[in-house]
Amino acid sequence: MTIIQADWIVTCDEYDSIIENGCIVFDKTIVDLGSFEEISSKYPNSPIQKTDPNTVILPGLINPHVHLEFSANKTTLRYGNFMTWLNSVIEHRADLIEKADTELIDNELQSILKSGTTTIGAISSYGFDMESLQKTKLNVVHFSEIIGSNASMVDTLFADFQARLKSSSKLKSDRYTPAIAIHSPYSVHPFLIRETLNLAREQNLAVTAHFLESQEEKDWLESSSGGMLEFFKTFLNQTQSITKSHEFLNQFKGIKNLSFTHCCQANKEELEVIDELKATIIHCPVSNRFLTNATMDYKDLEHRTFAIGTDGLSSNYSLSLWEEMKNALFIHKNVDITTLAKKLLNASTKGGAKALGFENKGSLKKGYDADIISVTLPDTCTKKDIFLHMILHTSVANAIFIKGEKIV
Ligand SMILES: [Zn+2]
Repeated sequence: MTIIQADWIVTCDEYDSIIENGCIVFDKTIVDLGSFEEISSKYPNSPIQKTDPNTVILPGLINPHVHLEFSANKTTLRYGNFMTWLNSVIEHRADLIEKADTELIDNELQSILKSGTTTIGAISSYGFDMESLQKTKLNVVHFSEIIGSNASMVDTLFADFQARLKSSSKLKSDRYTPAIAIHSPYSVHPFLIRETLNLAREQNLAVTAHFLESQEEKDWLESSSGGMLEFFKTFLNQTQSITKSHEFLNQFKGIKNLSFTHCCQANKEELEVIDELKATIIHCPVSNRFLTNATMDYKDLEHRTFAIGTDGLSSNYSLSLWEEMKNALFIHKNVDITTLAKKLLNASTKGGAKALGFENKGSLKKGYDADIISVTLPDTCTKKDIFLHMILHTSVANAIFIKGEKIV
């Protein structure tokens, strides 16, 4: 059993409790937490590890949406317009995938871990990330992804998907959870969506999908027009969209742990269907800024429990949630910055846990997994400003525990 004391314990629980001069008691799970006086009198024979002044203990960060197989991109892909970006992905995909070998992915995972992220949701297009994800100390939800809109190819694509999901399922452990990703409404044939979702229901697997990332996607789904028409004609000899947004969403009924990434162009009705499905929105503001210059309106986020994702290095310069939160402070202008900071930190902990279907992560509460990090602020601050100053002044965590095991 370990007991650690810190000037602040930020719990990210449902009451947003912050304990001043507090202690947390844990083994694999959190045993107790409270004020220093309370814990030291309750556990008089246990040593208490002290931390530096201005240290904050908080739940490990949870990044539910990352594409590690695209980690080799630095300056290759083109930003500024969704179709420009998509065409550059098609052109350079093979090279980028080849460059993202196990060593490169291992290094990215190490950086993610050092930043204080303790759980990730990895979207896997090819299964080339599995070797690294099997070895990492991070908690992993591994989303085997299905993609393909051509009706003549569905059997082949489904067989390939099933083989990847089977390999991923063999790695299942208390740290590694297999799951399913449906690429997007425009890129996956309804037959494949139906079959993969049936597998998810049978095996009780979490599901995620990209949804309404760009105006081009919306135009294509609504009226088979806009910037995507040329793309589909050229690469897939297709001039009609295979589905509409509402038909796509309606297929997800009965999926227990469900998330939709981006949702930038989702209207009120579509957001309500997402709520009815009890799905979590994964907000990726940097990726949205780079590819489409339009992200979700904060008014559509503030009353929801949403998550924050970095997306992959194919549309970001960093896989650190601290960077994502810093940028989100500037992207969502006209919102009180201290209120926003608190919302972002909750999205990066509790929101991420909800997106991935974990009921025992994302908060510091008795019985929850002891996925705990600490960061040290450069000086004193008031209780109200802790969230903002953590975001502004943190790039790496100074201690990291995953299920109670000291990692850093
Ligand atoms: Zn993505």
